[in-house]
Amino acid sequence: MGMESVYQAEGVLEDYAPVLQKLFPELEPVKGIIESPLLTIDAIYNDIIPPGHLLLKADHLLPVSGSIKARGGIFAVLKIVDHIAERENIFRKDRRFTLSGAAKKIFSNYRIAVGSTGNLGLSIGIAGRAFGFSVEVHMSSAAKRWKKELLDKIGADVIAYDSDYTAACEAARVSAQKDDSVYFIDDENSTDLFLGYSVAALRLKKQLNDLNIMISEKHPLFVYLPCGVGGAPGGITFALKQLFGNSVHCFFAEPVDAPAMILGLITGKHDGISIQDIGLSGNTSADGLAVGRPSGFVSSLMKRYLDGAYTLPDRDLFFYLARLYDTEGFKVEPSAAAGFAGPVLLTTAGGGRSYMEQKGIEAKNIIHLIWSTGGSMEPRAEFQKNYKKHYPQVCMESG
Ligand SMILES: *Cc1c(COP(=O)(O)O)cnc(C)c1O
Repeated sequence: MGMESVYQAEGVLEDYAPVLQKLFPELEPVKGIIESPLLTIDAIYNDIIPPGHLLLKADHLLPVSGSIKARGGIFAVLKIVDHIAERENIFRKDRRFTLSGAAKKIFSNYRIAVGSTGNLGLSIGIAGRAFGFSVEVHMSSAAKRWKKELLDKIGADVIAYDSDYTAACEAARVSAQKDDSVYFIDDENSTDLFLGYSVAALRLKKQLNDLNIMISEKHPLFVYLPCGVGGAPGGITFALKQLFGNSVHCFFAEPVDAPAMILGLITGKHDGISIQDIGLSGNTSADGLAVGRPSGFVSSLMKRYLDGAYTLPDRDLFFYLARLYDTEGFKVEPSAAAGFAGPVLLTTAGGGRSYMEQKGIEAKNIIHLIWSTGGSMEPRAEFQKNYKKHYPQVCMESG
C-alpha cells in the first residue's frame, strides 16, 4: 500500500460526488465532497501559543455523519457499491449513475455489518441506509445511547453488547460469515477505511496552501490526533508523512484508561496485547477512543511513522471541551477534545521539550494542528451534560 492508493481513494470519492450530492442535500453547496474547514484559533490557551500558530482541523463539522468517521466510513460503503455494481453488472463503470428506485432495490438485497463504539456505526449506517442497504451495527458497551437511537430511527439494526469493542467487532464478523450477501466492514483490519481516512491529508495540504501556510523542517507542523483503534489517525498520519516528510510530526492522544495503541507500540506486541492484560478498565467518556486493543496492521505501520503519543484523564477532556466552547463556541464530543492537550504537553512537559531539543526544533516555529474529530450530531442536552462536568456550578445558556 502506498500513496497511489490514497490518490485512488480520493478519485473514488470524486467519482461518487454527484451521487452523494443527490443523496445528501447538505452536500449540494460543496458539490458532493465531504470535507471540514481548516481554521485558525487563538484564545483557547491564554496565549501559550503565539497567534497564527494554532490550527483546528474541524472534523466535528464534517457533513453527513459529523465525525472523522465520515470519510472512511462512506468510502468503505462506496467500495461495496462498486463491488455490487460489478457483481450485478448493472451500473455504469464511471460511477455516475443515478440512484434509481430499481438500484436501491438491488442494494436492499445486501446487508452491511459493522462493529462500532458509535461513530463508525453512524457513518456506515447513514451512508448505507441512504443507498438502500440493510445495515447491522454491533455496538460495544461504550456506545452512547443517542447514537443507538439515531441509528434505530434511520432503520439500521442495532445490536448492543455489554462487552467491549473487540467483542462487538467479532460479533459483526461472525454474523457476516454466514452468507455472502453480507459485507463486513472490519474496523480493525480494513484497508478501505484506512484509505478513506487518509484522503484527509491530501485535502489538508490544499487547505494549508490556500491559507498560505508554509511548513518546513525548521517550521514544522505538529498534528494531534485522538486515537481509538487507530484507523482514522493512522491513515491521516501515513499520508501526511508521505506528503510532508520531516516537516510534519504526528502525535496520538488516548484516554489514560484506554491507551490501546500506545500499549501495542511500546510492547511491540501490536494487537497481541490489550489494556485489560495490564489491568486497565477501558472506562472513559471518550466513547470513540474506548478501545482495548489496537488495529494490528495500523499499529505495525505506526511503529515507523508515528512521532509520539500521550494519554489524558477524562477530566481534561471535559476541561478542553468547555474551554473550546467558551473561547470559540464550538461543541465537540469528549473523544474529540483529546487533541487539545497536545500543544500544551509538547511545549511545557518534559517529554515534549526533550522531543523538540532532540529534533532541533524551536517552540516558536511550530504550527500546531489539533484535529477535532466529532460533535456536530450530538444532541444539545448531551453537550450540556458534558460541559457541566467541567463547570458543575454553572447553568449554561441555551444556544
Ligand atoms: C473513531 C473516533 C476516533 C478515532 O478513530 P480510530 O480509527 O478508532 O482510531 C477519534 N475521535 C472520534 C470522535 C471517533 O469517533
